[in-house]
Amino acid sequence: MDEAIKNLTMRKSFGKSMLYTLPMFLLTFILMTGGRPDFSDRSGTIALLTTFLGLNILYFLMHYTGKTDKLRAILFIVFALTLSFTLIKNTIDIRQTMTYSQGDILECNMPFCHLVIPMLILPAAFTQSIIYPGSILGGFASISAMVVLWLAASVILGRGFCSWGCFYGGWDDGFSRFRKKPAIRKISDSWKWMPFAVLLMVALTSALALTPTYCDWMCPFKAVTEFEEVTGIESAAKAGIFISLFGGFVVVLPVLTKKRTQCSYLCPLGAINTLSNKVSPFIVKIDKQICNDCYKCVQACPMFALTNDDVKKGSVSIFCTKCGKCIDACPKQAIHYGIVGVPANRMVKFSRNIFLFVSFLFIAIFASGSIITVVKSFVNLFI
Ligand code: SF4
Ligand code: SF4
Repeated sequence: MDEAIKNLTMRKSFGKSMLYTLPMFLLTFILMTGGRPDFSDRSGTIALLTTFLGLNILYFLMHYTGKTDKLRAILFIVFALTLSFTLIKNTIDIRQTMTYSQGDILECNMPFCHLVIPMLILPAAFTQSIIYPGSILGGFASISAMVVLWLAASVILGRGFCSWGCFYGGWDDGFSRFRKKPAIRKISDSWKWMPFAVLLMVALTSALALTPTYCDWMCPFKAVTEFEEVTGIESAAKAGIFISLFGGFVVVLPVLTKKRTQCSYLCPLGAINTLSNKVSPFIVKIDKQICNDCYKCVQACPMFALTNDDVKKGSVSIFCTKCGKCIDACPKQAIHYGIVGVPANRMVKFSRNIFLFVSFLFIAIFASGSIITVVKSFVNLFI
């Protein structure tokens, strides 16, 4: 390893990695126990400790190995799976079915999810009301808490929310890892603007119809959470659309292209989070003094966020979700997490440490509840 690369390696010794993990250890413990641990329920205690240890082992390994993406993806995928399981379980516990009826909508008995946020803004501005028929249901977070957390994550992480906070991104992230090499390589770059068109369309139609049209007609994740009871042609068409979009954009295209196609092409919240990259203090930077233009980072990027031209210019586009895949792929350690305004060759290790701490804390906040619920359900099967 030449000297420059050796100096930039992000690996830490065992002791130093433990030291860096300690604050996360304490914070996640307080977060998951509310500062008052209660070990009276056996299955709850096992679930809590398993989740707590699992989270902290992943964080420790990020420091110890110097790698980010695969370790992040383990948590991100588990989060998506357990969240879907939790949503389905809660819905079945309450309604005895995975589907919802018009009555549930009228009674505001719908779980809220962050993808609805783009459709609430215009109607809220014009009518001073929230058009989503959601409520605090069976342990789901309230709308305001969800919006505040999403906003905080978006301002701090920018589009990093899409790799460190989103409930569903783990689905297409997971399927994009199925093949070693993509079967489809050439996809036009201009499709990455598509989420802005979807955003405009659903924001306007939701304002006109005063109902969240993306949830009603377009959300692929209805196929793995809950969707409207099929009672006629309209609801059958919706079910067909949800299942086709899930199959196409979340499963088949990610497998064939090794890209996160639902997040890159369809998600209206992804469009808003792309813009939030403009305010985030964190950014992925390329040190052109070290980079040898091998473009391994471009091939690794699952988000259409990095082109050969971007590498030549030494900057990553605003579509970047800060997943870390390009960083782990670079043989020269030339691309890394950085802080806006700081030159690419300065404070490299500090920038990664601070970014990892903040982003991991967000994913721990978002994911721990659903992971605990699922682990507890499994433990209850055995004891
Ligand atoms: S540029 Fe790098 S960090 Fe950003 S989305 Fe692509 S692979 Fe992930
Ligand atoms: S992988 Fe590293 S060295 Fe190769 S082009 Fe990307 S930043 Fe430069």
